[in-house]
Amino acid sequence: MTRYEHWINGKPTPSSGGEWLTSTRPGTDEAVCEIPLGTREDADQAVAVANAAFAGWAAEKPIRRGRVLMKIAAGLRRERQRLAELEAAETGKPLRQADVEIRGAAAFFEFYAGLVNVPSGEIIDLGDGYHGYTRHEPFGVVGVITPWNVPLNQAARAVAPALAVGNAVVCKPSEFTSSTTLELGRIAAEAGLPPGVLNVVTGMGDVVGSAIVEHPHVRKVAFTGSVRAGRIVGRTAAEKIIPVTLELGGKSPNIVFADADLDAAVAGAARAFVGNAGQVCSNGTRLLLAREIHDAFVARLVERVRTVKPGEDYGSQTTKDQFEKVLSYFDVAREEGATLVTGGRSIGDGWLIEPTIYTGVTNEMRIAREEIFGPVLVVIPFDDEDDAVAKANDSDYGLAAGLWTADLGRAHRVAAALQVGQVYVNEWTAGLIEGPFGGHKNSGHGREKGVEALRHYTHAKFVSVRIGKSASGG
Ligand code: NAD
Repeated sequence: MTRYEHWINGKPTPSSGGEWLTSTRPGTDEAVCEIPLGTREDADQAVAVANAAFAGWAAEKPIRRGRVLMKIAAGLRRERQRLAELEAAETGKPLRQADVEIRGAAAFFEFYAGLVNVPSGEIIDLGDGYHGYTRHEPFGVVGVITPWNVPLNQAARAVAPALAVGNAVVCKPSEFTSSTTLELGRIAAEAGLPPGVLNVVTGMGDVVGSAIVEHPHVRKVAFTGSVRAGRIVGRTAAEKIIPVTLELGGKSPNIVFADADLDAAVAGAARAFVGNAGQVCSNGTRLLLAREIHDAFVARLVERVRTVKPGEDYGSQTTKDQFEKVLSYFDVAREEGATLVTGGRSIGDGWLIEPTIYTGVTNEMRIAREEIFGPVLVVIPFDDEDDAVAKANDSDYGLAAGLWTADLGRAHRVAAALQVGQVYVNEWTAGLIEGPFGGHKNSGHGREKGVEALRHYTHAKFVSVRIGKSASGG
């Protein structure tokens, strides 16, 4: 079994506390690896070396930064089998799915490698006698804090754009799933990333995570995780007056109009809530159905969902708390009087849960308002387009939405009216690397992914240069 150390300053570095956490295969006692139980001192050390490494990396020619990012991507692809095995072992997801996500992690580095020169600013016309322009400059040290559901992929989506524009990074992966982010540190060093530019410190969120966020040299934080921890991180960022990207939870609506291609919509509706055992922040977990197709659609969806093979098509809940949380919502659903049409129980001795669908649900019920983060779908009928939009928007969250219709005008109208960060029309989902991703309301703010993310890892500096004799003035 591998015993990891932190990755600090381009090399494995022991924790000052000398303690380890054992990560286990979900639902079993089988140890996967040991990771350091980091201390505040470890986090401080990583921030100090990142701060020292920042200036050199920021001064590097962008195209050279891009080349290093491409080599990191090649390293991830070269080692993808081992990385996928590690990630499958720590998260409980099927190997096939872990492999897709590791390739996605590599794709983030490839995507941002090609964009190193994009945030280069613009010329601003100040009239005769002046040259005005903006520079988009890196912040310095960026803290990246990630959850356990899609570990390396989510680290990569923040690390790649942060590095592309010249920041140095300190990562704190989830204490349940740290191995592949530690491996990323090594792979990046082997790809030629200078020591100290990417550091990984493992341990608990309220120790290592908060030490990173609170450190005066950390000038931006990209946090992905729960609303609970996001609030704490956001408060600290406000005290320090630093920007923060918060990628939090969701209860995303998936809206099917009667004119939709119903074969595609049934398949999409199943994929939207079962994916990753429901442990995806943007999953479509509130199915809004046009009243006239409600009963027939639910019947077809149940038929479809019964062909999904738990344990093969999707895996275990990743943590015991998460497993128990999902089971507790089965009790909530019973108490609220929802109708269970399929699922509603765990399978075997582990933490595997059957795909579960409830009808007879209203938007006021807890099972329709709260993020369950398991393979659980609630179905709510709507009367017309306005009702669909009103119900979709009646949520504390605002991350993603699906929309199924053959009416082009309606697709654009409803997409515009939805209070979410991304809308998937007639397919769940597309553009997972290229499209900007983020939320409204309790789902957070700021954007990851796409060209847009680059704006969130830089700040604009305006420069005006007097080059002629004309005087200033409006
Ligand atoms: P979590 O908030 O408990 O932990 C996320 C990370 O934050 C972990 O690394 C944890 O150690 C750290 N952390 C915890 N407390 C902290 C603190 N006080 N200061 C700094 N860091 C702290 O979340 P989780 O249970 O790991 O993940 C599940 C949640 O993440 C769900 O709510 C899900 O919706 C959300 N999520 C959001 C996205 C997105 O992109 N919007 C993606 C995946 C998951």
